[in-house]
Amino acid sequence: MVEALYPVPVEWAKDALVDEARYNEMYARSVSDPDGFWRDQAQRIDWIKPFSVVKQTSYHEADFGISWFTDGTLNIAANALDRHLATRGDDIAIIWEPDSPSDPERRITYRQLHEDVCRFANLMKSRGVKKGDRVTIYLPMVPEAAVAMLACARIGAIHSIVFAGFSPDALAGRIVDCDSSIVLTADQGLRGGKKVPLKANVDEALEDCPGVDTVIVLAHTGADVPMAEGRDIDWRTGVAQQSADCAPEEMNAEDPLFILYTSGSTGKPKGVLHTTGGYAVWASMTHEYVFDYRPGQIYWCAADIGWVTGHSYVVYGPLMNGGTTVMFEGVPSFPDASRFWQIVDKYQVEIFYGAPTALRALMREGDDYVKATSRKSLKVLGSVGEPINPEAWSWYYNVVGEGRCPIVDTWWQTETGGVMITPLPGATALKPGSASKPMFGVRPMLLDNDGKEITGAGEGCLVIADSWPGQMRTVWGDHERFFQTYFSTFKGYYFTGDGCRRDEDGYYWITGRIDDVINVSGHRMGTAEIESALVAHHKVAEAAVVGMPHEIKGQGIYAFVTTNAGVEADEDLRRELIKWVRHEIGPIATPDVIQFAPGLPKTRSGKIMRRILRKIGENDFSSLGDTSTLADPSVVDNLIENRPQPA
Ligand code: ATP
Ligand code: MG
Repeated sequence: MVEALYPVPVEWAKDALVDEARYNEMYARSVSDPDGFWRDQAQRIDWIKPFSVVKQTSYHEADFGISWFTDGTLNIAANALDRHLATRGDDIAIIWEPDSPSDPERRITYRQLHEDVCRFANLMKSRGVKKGDRVTIYLPMVPEAAVAMLACARIGAIHSIVFAGFSPDALAGRIVDCDSSIVLTADQGLRGGKKVPLKANVDEALEDCPGVDTVIVLAHTGADVPMAEGRDIDWRTGVAQQSADCAPEEMNAEDPLFILYTSGSTGKPKGVLHTTGGYAVWASMTHEYVFDYRPGQIYWCAADIGWVTGHSYVVYGPLMNGGTTVMFEGVPSFPDASRFWQIVDKYQVEIFYGAPTALRALMREGDDYVKATSRKSLKVLGSVGEPINPEAWSWYYNVVGEGRCPIVDTWWQTETGGVMITPLPGATALKPGSASKPMFGVRPMLLDNDGKEITGAGEGCLVIADSWPGQMRTVWGDHERFFQTYFSTFKGYYFTGDGCRRDEDGYYWITGRIDDVINVSGHRMGTAEIESALVAHHKVAEAAVVGMPHEIKGQGIYAFVTTNAGVEADEDLRRELIKWVRHEIGPIATPDVIQFAPGLPKTRSGKIMRRILRKIGENDFSSLGDTSTLADPSVVDNLIENRPQPA
């Protein structure tokens, strides 16, 4: 198979912060002289007390520990706000686009944001919140969510954001897990014209959280919500009584910044803990280089703040870099499938960063919605969250970007704090579907199941050989689980849980979770490959493949397929798809079962939960595991009801 290669456009290479030669030189130094490299990179941050030690890390059980810039002190909110005031206080920090295009947008300057953060920090302080306390944030995509995060960081409180859309149960579980006594929320959220009863969810959750004594409620839709006397405070009334002066707390580099629970694609979510100094350097550096970001550019990351992408690339990265970040409350399909691109035109967005799941959903609606907009302002497109299959990549590149914008397919995890493997727009020739090359300081390696290194081209388990500043430091409340989950499978390495292929050019191709590899008659296959083949068929919008028990082959292939709008999902199509996959990959990949599915079970961040589909494939509906992070639990019932019986 000949892979398409898209060289860096000449005009891009000319002006880029990092071109190919510079990438090679910087990368080489970052791994041969990490201390020197990171000492220099850390200068992008304003330290209160400079650090003397750069890196003290070991992945081995005997002296296990990860710490960066250990004796330095800083405040990340001051880095995101205060230090910009003198030079760009009147620049726009946040542009907020509401759910409905007929409602007014908001533009917030650095000066205004700084003031809002100080007042809100003082409000939390007046309720007894102090350094080290955990603050649960359950807010929609509104600027106050960023205010809340930065206010926590300012006073040294640890924020834990829970997707505004998770159930009361999921919320309660997270409040209890990190033992927080304060919850920040809104009366309601808005998504695609629908109201989400946030305050009511909080009230229900708090029946199981006796430790919570304060709830601060933002009036967002203006709905009438009951307020508990002594416990609940109206956001704006509370803030109005506070002073706009709030000195940033001096934080040690290794003091905790936030807890964030993983998506739960593979099991019970883990409370990932990130600390201050290393994360600040990492979020700022990756944001600048991955997007070739210069202040003044309008930058839009369409991720929710309830996801790590929203932490590093809606709030911390762009604001530390003095950027203008767009926050969008709504969904890509409301009022119609042009919405994303209309927003791009409205604000002249130059950099757009989104998830394959949204792109596939939009692709399904056809090109006209895209073509109805200009998109001339776009310069870089980003992708995150899942492998982007070549079909969706091409659509993104050719239809959305009109062949003009490099796509940065960024591989990373909640655990990694920021982008780990990615092309750089001015440095890396693109291969559709490949996350390509490691970020500075990242040493990816492929190991076989026995832990033996695979050199050159090959496929194996993706591990990272050395620490990077943005690495998570522990699982909240369970340091042993941290070590066991990530460092015990392959001794001396950070294990990502993902499978990966490296080609002759040293490009990395994420093949999916190791758990998702299936073994058909002795042939090991990544489910992503079969899914990509299915999605490449013009009638298919989305596909998820899992293994199922098979008497002869050991494992058979069970495919869940969502068709494009207006396609008849019938026996003819089933036969056509089977033939198609045989032709695309080979007879070994022939699906044993194809189930047409109006929707697939996904996490709120849009990842397909294959562990649930595996259970359906196995005809075992009794133990579906943790389903608290599902975006729409009813999807599962539908799949169970309509499960075809294999011939
Ligand atoms: P849990 O760890 O609880 O199962 P999760 O892994 O879904 O949840 P995240 O940290 O949000 O939680 O997701 C990280 C995973 O997403 C990666 O391990 C990888 O499988 C996938 N991923 C992210 N970006 C990409 C990408 N660009 N290409 C391929 N896979 C990606
Ligand atoms: Mg994970």
